[in-house]
Amino acid sequence: GKLTVAVRDHQYNVHIGQDTYELFTTEYAELLGTVDRIAIIADERVAAIYLPLLQKSLQSVNCEISVKTVPAGESCKTSAVYVDCLSFLLNEKFTRDSLLIAFGGGACGDLTGFVAATFMRGIRYLQCPTTILAHDSAVGGKTAINMPEGKNMVGSFHQPVGVLFNTRLFESLPPREIRSGMAELLKHALISNEEWTLELLSTPSFSQPSIEWLSRELLRGIEVKAKIVSEDEFEHSTRKYLNFGHTFGHAVEGVCGFGGLSHGESVMIGMVYSLILSEDTGAVDEALTIRFIQFANTHGYTFQPVHEHGFDVFMNYMEKDKKVSFGKLNFVLLDGIGKPYVKELSKAQCEQAFNQLRQRTK
Ligand code: NAD
Ligand code: ZN
Repeated sequence: GKLTVAVRDHQYNVHIGQDTYELFTTEYAELLGTVDRIAIIADERVAAIYLPLLQKSLQSVNCEISVKTVPAGESCKTSAVYVDCLSFLLNEKFTRDSLLIAFGGGACGDLTGFVAATFMRGIRYLQCPTTILAHDSAVGGKTAINMPEGKNMVGSFHQPVGVLFNTRLFESLPPREIRSGMAELLKHALISNEEWTLELLSTPSFSQPSIEWLSRELLRGIEVKAKIVSEDEFEHSTRKYLNFGHTFGHAVEGVCGFGGLSHGESVMIGMVYSLILSEDTGAVDEALTIRFIQFANTHGYTFQPVHEHGFDVFMNYMEKDKKVSFGKLNFVLLDGIGKPYVKELSKAQCEQAFNQLRQRTK
């Protein structure tokens, strides 16, 4: 599958399938022929399994290719790793005509994108995502690293020159990472399409999904994301909808310590929280929330963090969120499936929903 993301004067393709790396010698051959150097910034766990595969796919490229491995997963999104990557590029004499390739999940993609956005005021980069969740993160050009004060606090918008999703690499994904990615897919369904949402909610098991099924579903998710990003690259309006479940979800991630709970697992809790909020203020039926909680329980998601920590701990994080401006708490809610909107809520409303969340997930 393939689709195009169009933003302002720039457009790029997202490819998904088993043989996407062959595109290095076809669609991307021209690009690779014009760069002076390439650095693969690779998640160390991914590199340990798949680096030879990627390097082999790039063997016809004429310029020198360096590899910089970074710590696996979320632990690469630090200022220390960021600076380390910049020093690496400088020491290796990279220039404005060089290219970076992000090789890993969303964390590695966010880091690489931010390095590319800032090195020499911005160089090109390709996304080669390796997780299901990255169907979201690799598309749309949001890049970031974390700060001790909060997640994704420093970053920029910087679009890749292409996204090459190789589904063969999903084979080694642990169940937890599949679960994480499926949560974000469910989010794309929930903000866009009722039929699709109900379909996903009735998927009996996705612990070992078929590659064909996954490719099709991911393409649907990317379609939702690509459409919104094309409409609103810099998140002034509709792009905010992609944050459904994320205000509380990021708080969960923060409270559990980055990496303690995966991004998608945290967002799952955040989505249930937002559904509860939507029952009072939007047109969401309680039955949908119940269905969601059932889904979460059947597929091994956890609600433990909301039983281990009090409301104030989460509230502290939410108040630091970028979506909170001038002390106002803005949430993406649903006026029914496929009908997202933004609403300002009071602290009391948030606390009430938190108590509900606890009660219903006991
Ligand atoms: P991740 O990048 O943290 O990877 C999760 C784990 O899976 C890591 O341990 C990694 O080493 C491992 N892994 C990756 N690919 C593998 C493979 N093919 N086989 C075996 N193991 C593999 O997790 P993620 O869920 O892909 O990304 C989460 C990050 O994405 C978060 O930092 C989140 O903030 C970010 N994100 C960004 C955006 C955006 O628009 N930029 C959107 C959503 C999420
Ligand atoms: Zn997300």
